Amino acid sequence: MHPEIDRDQMSPQQAIEILQQGNNRFVNNVKRQHDMLSVRDELKDKQHPFASILSCSDSRTTVELIFDQNLGDIFSVRLAGNVASTLAIGSLEFSTQYLGSKLVVVMGHSNCGAVKAACDHYKGGNIGEIIKMIDPAVGHETTISSERNSANTSFVEKVCWHNVHEQINNIKQNSDIINKMVEDNRIALVGAVYDLATGSVEFDI
Ligand SMILES: [Zn+2]
Repeated sequence: MHPEIDRDQMSPQQAIEILQQGNNRFVNNVKRQHDMLSVRDELKDKQHPFASILSCSDSRTTVELIFDQNLGDIFSVRLAGNVASTLAIGSLEFSTQYLGSKLVVVMGHSNCGAVKAACDHYKGGNIGEIIKMIDPAVGHETTISSERNSANTSFVEKVCWHNVHEQINNIKQNSDIINKMVEDNRIALVGAVYDLATGSVEFDI
């Protein structure tokens, strides 16, 4: 059971609020005490995460820390650039359909290396496969006409939000399971961006 609300009774909106409250604690450097022994015991045979988060692999964006949550709370899918690959979408489907997660968040972050590489049209190795998935977001940013590269911080930040929306679109276009659950109000699918400097997460709701 989540400390705030029984997960089975939790609405998608309440799941967002719990993440926002946890992020407020993180921003203010307040941490909830977790009794790890009893939590491990409670979770040893089952899991029932209340939120699924597709975020970047960046070492500074660990979701359990920035939302001040415990073991068993968040089903975490992490890939550089928070790209919604087929495998990432499959993981999100598993967590919502079979584990009862109430929320899917696609979360980007400021100063993201993968987004910056896309801004510079990087193509090397398998990294290029990730960049290809972010490329459309670069094209969607049309308000900035000069210095469209990683040296331009405001360009990078705008592309970051476009990338969050692009990956949400990938999920919508490729997941009947998630679309159906959103339609039935069993889950919500939302975007967010984490600010490395302030620790704050802005939700697109
Ligand atoms: Zn990143």
